[in-house]
Amino acid sequence: MAAAGFVTQLPPSRYRIRLVESEEIGTVGVGEATLPHIKEFNDSIGLDEVEMMRRSKASFKLGIEFVGWGFEGSRYIHPFGTHGRADSGPAFHQLWLRALQNGHKFDLEDLSFAITASRANRFDFPSKNPHAVNSTYAYAYHFDSSLYAGHLREFAEARGVLRTEGKITDVALDPESGAVQSLTLNSGEVVGGDFFIDCSGFRSLILGNRLGVEWEDWSKWLPCDRAFAVPSERSGDLTPYTRSTVRTAGWQWRIPLQHRTGNGYVFSSQFTSDDEAAAELLANLDTPALDEPRLLRFQAGRRTRSWERNCVALGLASGFLEPLESTSIYLIQIAIMHLLPLFPDGRSDPKAAAEFNRKMDVEYDRIRDFLILHYKLTKREETEIWKYCRHMDVPDSLREKMALFGHRGHIEQYRDGLFTPPSWLSVYVGQGLQPKHYHPRVAAMPVERVVEELATLEADIRDRVDEMPSHAAFVARYCPADAPAVP
Ligand SMILES: Cc1cc2nc3c(=O)[nH]c(=O)nc-3n(C[C@H](O)[C@H](O)[C@H](O)COP(=O)(O)OP(=O)(O)OC[C@H]3O[C@@H](n4cnc5c(N)ncnc54)[C@H](O)[C@@H]3O)c2cc1C
Repeated sequence: MAAAGFVTQLPPSRYRIRLVESEEIGTVGVGEATLPHIKEFNDSIGLDEVEMMRRSKASFKLGIEFVGWGFEGSRYIHPFGTHGRADSGPAFHQLWLRALQNGHKFDLEDLSFAITASRANRFDFPSKNPHAVNSTYAYAYHFDSSLYAGHLREFAEARGVLRTEGKITDVALDPESGAVQSLTLNSGEVVGGDFFIDCSGFRSLILGNRLGVEWEDWSKWLPCDRAFAVPSERSGDLTPYTRSTVRTAGWQWRIPLQHRTGNGYVFSSQFTSDDEAAAELLANLDTPALDEPRLLRFQAGRRTRSWERNCVALGLASGFLEPLESTSIYLIQIAIMHLLPLFPDGRSDPKAAAEFNRKMDVEYDRIRDFLILHYKLTKREETEIWKYCRHMDVPDSLREKMALFGHRGHIEQYRDGLFTPPSWLSVYVGQGLQPKHYHPRVAAMPVERVVEELATLEADIRDRVDEMPSHAAFVARYCPADAPAVP
């Protein structure tokens, strides 16, 4: 992503991009669910959607279903879209609250186009008419991220990126400035450069290991530190959403791709053993496993700075937040997008570094709070991890947000970073945090009118969703994985 992003968006007369990768080490090889922002990244570099989806065996994603998170038997969808109509505005849920608090039962999920389409297993592109009710959502992809990365590698090389296969064995620093000077490969080749992007994964070879940028540990709020991942056969119903189901010591993901289903169990080693976790995962697959479960170890947290001297770390080299809301690939993308306008001319630019680090701190902090919310809002007490999470202290920034919503449904709308109010709303309500009051500004509208509006909206959404093709049929027509390459 970095090589493709920089080679297409930095002037070639000024910047030459070199990519060093090791087939022997390989990539982490997981990461199949994305956020709608990835379309913006793909469009910005000129990547063709059909070709990308075909090659990475992708399906569409309208949101994430959370099963059992609030309490046993609960389920809700965090949609990629707003609740209400296109012109309802961010406080639409206040109308819903007013109806609710006057005894009129409307399921908030039925007032979201993306959720209704998800529940019906249907997909179509959002309408371009900004007033239409079916313009109120966005979409992301489920894909095989190794195939996506391979596609981007070819794309980047075709545009001038020089790729070198090799294992980095040493990172040399300038003795005077301490800046990164060169990398030594196992072949003996020395690769010099002005500016280094560390994409070395959990190893954080340059930023963490060589430059010694400290790690900030967030595991007291996000205790999961391991995952088993296993592919299984393709599921018959190609759901246009990711599923996250609560398990004994964490949660299980299910991601439908065209050729297989991606599954994994994210768990805390404090609360279960590896053997028990692997067995629990295998016992809870919808379709037969295609491989042995593969164990991955991690810790929630981030490097205290992503840009240090003449090095920026992207992806896992800069931090890790569990894949509950599919945010890691987003964090790579947003780092590239924040870096582009700040990209230095030479080796060092402390002001640009400070601004980049500030922006990335905001990104990480916002996602961290949103992830913690899912754990904190549980009412589960059946197993130790859930008991711990329900009663744990949370960051002040999150406590304040929850208090504002709990009072009268206020949701902070910030300029930078994930997530927008509809996302917060779906998790708050989905996990049972109900505001005590609605905002007085909706009090003037007669309840009967509110009820009529909500009922009409619900019916409109249902009618439009009924007209959509099934997700499986749409994918088979638009981007079948086994179709011949587009010339
Ligand atoms: C369990 C789990 C589930 C996940 N699910 C999702 C998800 O659903 N959605 C999402 O957005 N993200 C997810 N992620 C995160 C996602 O996998 C990563 O963000 C993504 O794969 C990018 O990783 P990366 O490129 O930073 O690191 P890696 O994939 O580890 O790549 C590191 C690269 O550095 C190279 N390298 C390392 N050391 C050397 C060396 N010495 N010499 C030369 N080359 C070297 C490797 O060869 C490799 O090419 C998940 C992560 C985990 C652990």
